Amino acid sequence: MRFFQAQGRCCGLRWFCCILRSRKNQAGRSIDRNKGLVEQLRHLGIIKSSEVAEVMETVDRGEFVQDSASAYIDSPLRIGYNATISAPHMHAYCLELLKDHLKPGMRVLDVGSGTGYLTACFSLMVGPTGCAVGVEHIPELVVSSLENIKRSGAVELLCGGSLSVHVADGRLGYAELAPFDAIHVGAAAPEHPTALIEQLKPGGRMVIPVGKTFQELKIVDKRLDGSVNISSEIPVRYVPLTSREVQLQGHGPLRM
Ligand code: SAH
Repeated sequence: MRFFQAQGRCCGLRWFCCILRSRKNQAGRSIDRNKGLVEQLRHLGIIKSSEVAEVMETVDRGEFVQDSASAYIDSPLRIGYNATISAPHMHAYCLELLKDHLKPGMRVLDVGSGTGYLTACFSLMVGPTGCAVGVEHIPELVVSSLENIKRSGAVELLCGGSLSVHVADGRLGYAELAPFDAIHVGAAAPEHPTALIEQLKPGGRMVIPVGKTFQELKIVDKRLDGSVNISSEIPVRYVPLTSREVQLQGHGPLRM
């Protein structure tokens, strides 16, 4: 009897080790696939800088989506509540546009933080002496984004308090932690939101998709004298920056 028990425990242990080994292998594969995605974006010239390559290698996209098989494809993915995680090339593009305003110690606001992917990237770039704030109006997405961030390379910044995510209407920015060196908006505003421009520091930069059917990614630069310069980058298709009620009614096509 003792023999069978012992053998059973031994088999159980072997089985447990096998699971651990296969999990380790899976984690290894996902890190490799994330590196492959970053390499592809670098090759295409979308990732230009070592800072952006490094942060996108550190923050594994597979930790931020349910369907890990699709995580490393350069495409937006549905995350529920009529929202999407943007395509990796859009994340890379926005990180490149903002990178000079994401230096250690700087303050950044991520409006429409969704899965928390970019908030985690921003946080790693500004570091523990900086401040990265995500604002999302769907409470369930805030809860899941915090779980995602806890699995990611940005967990220590969340625990240390330099990264935070809040349930709020992002059209109003986040006055409590303003002003910001960088503002990223992950949903398309019908026009330039004045509250967000007000919360930008002189010398700061906001990247925001603007428009309804036809949208453009805009760069809003606030000069040191407080005046503002707005330029257009590229045509884009994002989910709208809207009220929670309107978003939950909508059933639009897959957006960036
Ligand atoms: N950048 C994120 C999500 C992009 S989808 C990512 O890549 O994971 C756009 C997000 O904006 C959605 O999560 C949506 O719920 C959110 N959103 C739309 N309108 C908003 C508003 N008024 N305030 C806050 N978040 C909003």
